[in-house]
Amino acid sequence: MATDVQMGGGAAEAETFAFQAEINQLLSLIINTFYSNKEIFLRELISNSSDALDKIRFESLTDKSKLDAQPELFIRLVPDKATKTLSIIDSGVGMTKSDLVNNLGTIARSGTKEFMEALQAGADVSMIGQFGVGFYSAYLVADKVVVTTKHNDDEQYVWESQAGGSFTVTLDTEGERLGRGTKITLFLKDDQLEYLEERRLKDLVKKHSEFISYPIYLWTEKTTEKEISDDEDDDSAEKKEGEVEEVDDDSEKKDEKKKKKVKEVSHEWAQINKQKPIWLRKPEEISKEEYASFYKSITNDWEDHLAVKHFSVEGQLEFKAVLFVPRRAPFDLFDTRKKMNNIKLYVRRVFIMDNCEELIPEWLGFVKGVVDSDDLPLNISRETLQQNKILKVIRKNLVKKCIELFFEIAENKEDYAKFYEAFSKNLKLGVHEDSQNRAKLADLLRYHSTKSGDELTSLKDYVTRMKEGQKDIYYITGESRKAVENSPFLERLKKRGYEVLFMVDAIDEYAVGQLKEYDGKKLVSATKEGLKLDEETEEEKKRREEKKAAFEGLCKTIKDILGDKVEKVVVSDRIVDSPCCLVTGEYGWTANMERIMKAQALRDSSMGAYMSSKKTMEINPENGIMEELRKRADADRNDKSVKDLVMLLFETALLTSGFSLDDPNTFAARIHRMLKLGLNIDDQDAEEEDADMPALEEEGGEESKMEEVD
Ligand code: ADP
Ligand code: MG
Repeated sequence: MATDVQMGGGAAEAETFAFQAEINQLLSLIINTFYSNKEIFLRELISNSSDALDKIRFESLTDKSKLDAQPELFIRLVPDKATKTLSIIDSGVGMTKSDLVNNLGTIARSGTKEFMEALQAGADVSMIGQFGVGFYSAYLVADKVVVTTKHNDDEQYVWESQAGGSFTVTLDTEGERLGRGTKITLFLKDDQLEYLEERRLKDLVKKHSEFISYPIYLWTEKTTEKEISDDEDDDSAEKKEGEVEEVDDDSEKKDEKKKKKVKEVSHEWAQINKQKPIWLRKPEEISKEEYASFYKSITNDWEDHLAVKHFSVEGQLEFKAVLFVPRRAPFDLFDTRKKMNNIKLYVRRVFIMDNCEELIPEWLGFVKGVVDSDDLPLNISRETLQQNKILKVIRKNLVKKCIELFFEIAENKEDYAKFYEAFSKNLKLGVHEDSQNRAKLADLLRYHSTKSGDELTSLKDYVTRMKEGQKDIYYITGESRKAVENSPFLERLKKRGYEVLFMVDAIDEYAVGQLKEYDGKKLVSATKEGLKLDEETEEEKKRREEKKAAFEGLCKTIKDILGDKVEKVVVSDRIVDSPCCLVTGEYGWTANMERIMKAQALRDSSMGAYMSSKKTMEINPENGIMEELRKRADADRNDKSVKDLVMLLFETALLTSGFSLDDPNTFAARIHRMLKLGLNIDDQDAEEEDADMPALEEEGGEESKMEEVD
């Protein structure tokens, strides 16, 4: 990593490091592309300072001595017109030498590439913080950045870079001592000197960083005017710091000819952010804009929140919370490497941590906000948190409030559509995992259906449309709406006018498996065994029984031909047009689940063999192909054409029922031979092509066969 070592100006050696390739790309993109929204750099750097302060404060809860080197926690901004630099100083945790090398240049974050792609797709540069590369936004306004830092466990170091592929790290023996923390000095580009103006900095902090929970001080210049008499002035002017200026005001000159005004320049730290945490204020006194700006400050989001819930719980246990639902899912919502937890935990105003897994369940990982508890001990450790009863109660309340918030969003159709598009997978995960709230969550689900058109329907609306005598709620799972819409499984259900829900998310399969029923009505899969359609007339029943009896022989023949490929072969209740379909056992996997599980490389394969084996072939006695097949099988059980047709029917049914073919080539060869027959092409090599595959019968009857296959 270190490419060469050069001697610095003083005694310490500067080590040169190359930026990791993607970071280097990112830097040139930031430097060379025109973005008007450069001001966000300050928010990013202040947010990093705030994170660093959070870290040292948390460490100090269990070891007070960690604060010794610098007891005060602060962020300071120092604009310096003389050197055209802006410095952001914090007394946070600081960085060790290896932190500096790793965090600021040699180890790329997972979001680096994603952010560049987003930028190139036209995204705004202000999104940078969400991708975990906010530091580099410094190069929006600076052509050189110097980071001086002191960590409790290491010496003071200086990182320096003008981008261009490399940075240096030097032991800092001579510079001003920080005690503990980090100072980032930006050498501003000539067209960015506006960031030296107090007014601009104050406005920016107000706009983007008002809710940072540490005091932000600005090094301000103050000019005071002092009146002094001429005599006084004569002997004291030189000694005073500050400039002396003649007052041009005519009237004053006339009245007090002997007096002069002196401007004295002094500096002081002015705190420029409000300190009272928003969650301690009354909800009715907080404007939507204030919530939005608080939301942005804790999340790095560039857009306003979609919904907010601000509440306090009182009684035996007391806490306050503000919860937000974002407008979009983050790019890494279901990245399992990253633990999603966006709730910051405070204890009596003191920040404790922002990745407390016990605070909120995984399925609510997209909800952001703060919780401030009055009851937890300040020096709580991660280990004791896991057992903590108070935390369990807080968690239960948070889940309840989140669900309330979702129902509030559902009152506005447009908002809910946005919400559902972004987070429906989370709701379904909730249905799967949260048995206590499952029934309530079911009311938040929405699906396309055979009757919903382009809209989505709720289960509640489905129930209002149920036909008289319909007892169950029907659904079909599959890969996409297109794939299930014309599925053979829906034929009879459609014919009867029963609505069928389309569940085409991989997670639907899991969620519905747990949900089982809604409003006392069973959720029934159209693709599983045992689909009983009620309201059958005596006549229908009689006819069915007859057909069943008539096709019993064929069922047996087919089962013999297919062997272990199917569990059993039965006469179907559910198909109207297709010759046959393959259903799965009520408790086994559906075709869709089999597809999902096959796609999961790391699943336990023994489970697959057990769960996916039970397929039942259902045949349609009303279909011409089946009728012809029956005739042939009755005439001669060993008819070769019967065997071949059964194989073809089975393989086609695999496809129309949502399974995949283990051996598509054999299937294709079979189809090709059917085509040749249909086209009357004499195929002499047929027998040699595939020894396993019986040739289609050559002596007569081909024509009628083809007609039926058509
Ligand atoms: P993020 O803040 O999302 O981690 P950044 O690019 O903003 O990404 O910062 C990269 C890393 O550099 C931080 O995670 C932190 O380890 C380190 N860092 C940046 N600024 C500071 C600071 N002021 N004090 C301590 N560490 C810092
Ligand atoms: Mg950051």
